[in-house]
Amino acid sequence: MDEKVRHEPDKGKIFVVSAPSGAGKTTLCTKILAEFPELAYSVSHTTRVPRIGEKDGIDYFFITENEFKRRIKQNLWAEWAQVHGNFYGTSMNFIEENIAKGNHLLLDIDVQGAKQFKQSFPESITIFIMPPSIDILEHRLKKRGSDSEEVVAKRLVNAAGEISQSAFYEHVIINDDLKKAQQEMEKIISQIRSGREQ
Ligand code: ADP
Ligand code: 5GP
Repeated sequence: MDEKVRHEPDKGKIFVVSAPSGAGKTTLCTKILAEFPELAYSVSHTTRVPRIGEKDGIDYFFITENEFKRRIKQNLWAEWAQVHGNFYGTSMNFIEENIAKGNHLLLDIDVQGAKQFKQSFPESITIFIMPPSIDILEHRLKKRGSDSEEVVAKRLVNAAGEISQSAFYEHVIINDDLKKAQQEMEKIISQIRSGREQ
């Protein structure tokens, strides 16, 4: 894409949020999206099966592995990764369309995807949501009740690796007290949007 379009200072900001599964990223992002209606959420594509209550086109676009791989071959992803055994990806078309319109964007993607994305879009702002501890993470995953014991175990094993990558992120928010974490995230987003970031 045209470099001039990508780097104009008054264009929309792109916020990339990652966290180990269960840290509270979805909870926080939902609150942030309600607080900042001008932030467009990048709905990812995944090959994972929908959880109860998840809606196609709202939570994710649920697609088959064949379709996902076809789009890899056609270079249609802004980034993609295999996470906990499933494929997840961000549509390049969606990102480019929103950048061209000057929209602010919020992406909820994993650590591998955030690194790829930051290489292609270095002006994006990276935020890592950190759980207070692995024990609390386990408790939250179990309390959420949306994954089998086996899936929870897989997510906990991956968590340590994801946490070890947190230094890559420009902002790290510890999600202990939800209200405080929300306020911290709101502060980062409003400062950057108004050009007051340090
Ligand atoms: P993620 O999207 O990172 O996988 P979720 O947002 O689904 O995580 O949160 C996992 C569980 O933890 C949910 O049941 C959520 O209500 C709960 N939760 C999130 N943040 C907090 C917090 N600060 N304190 C206690 N429970 C939390
Ligand atoms: P979940 O299955 O719990 O919804 O998400 C599992 C992980 O996949 C989370 O870390 C989430 O951030 C990540 N994820 C969701 N969408 C994408 C995406 O488009 N790309 C990448 N790389 N990761 C994603």
